[in-house]
Amino acid sequence: MSADLSEAKIPPRLADIRARMETVLLENGRALDAAQLLAISKTKPIEAITPLLDAGHRQFGENRVQEAQDKWPDLRAHYDAIELHLVGPLQTNKVKEAVALFDVIQTLDREKLARKLAGLKDESGFPRLFIQVNTGDEPQKSGVSPAGLAAFYDLCTQELGLRIAGLMCLPPQDEPAAAHFVLLGKLAAQVGLAELSMGMSGDFETALALGATHIRVGTALFGARD
Ligand SMILES: *Cc1c(COP(=O)(O)O)cnc(C)c1O
Repeated sequence: MSADLSEAKIPPRLADIRARMETVLLENGRALDAAQLLAISKTKPIEAITPLLDAGHRQFGENRVQEAQDKWPDLRAHYDAIELHLVGPLQTNKVKEAVALFDVIQTLDREKLARKLAGLKDESGFPRLFIQVNTGDEPQKSGVSPAGLAAFYDLCTQELGLRIAGLMCLPPQDEPAAAHFVLLGKLAAQVGLAELSMGMSGDFETALALGATHIRVGTALFGARD
């Protein structure tokens, strides 16, 4: 048998997640392309990421601007059509860099950030935006409170002229996630948004059953972070 290096193997964890996604989507009468898998590669080195790229995976998420800057320009030079999402908090002094680097910013969570982003919205390649909602109203967690979402959405869209693609949430760790996913779906429907970024390694199947369009999976794809 001749070795064909161009035919890269699908890493087993990626195959497993894809199969589980497909099962839940079918069970819930959703189209197989109704949800996208974001590989959350934070803290993982380039060598851990390239096997996924070689297998054709293109959607990734990082939680720090600096770390993403260290890793992704190199990877983009070698692989086309990469879609990179920011899923961690964005400081206003990093907005310009984030806008240049990311295709999607999922963590729009406050007025000051919205105003800063609005100042750059006419740049080419300006990222798609998700509003992060603090569905559990946790004091230590970033995100707009559910009660304040409608007003924040209006500020972003009407006053600042930003286009919003969807909502993102990170449920409290000590509560069942399902109620938070349902809430995020309701809030999105209220403001007329179709995209929902919700579900991680431990609960992405629940999220897919409840309408997630983007699941964010780290450890189940890459192994534990140290
Ligand atoms: C780290 C992280 C994830 C991935 O979490 P896992 O449990 O490792 O799948 C998803 N979303 C955000 C915002 C994260 O920071």
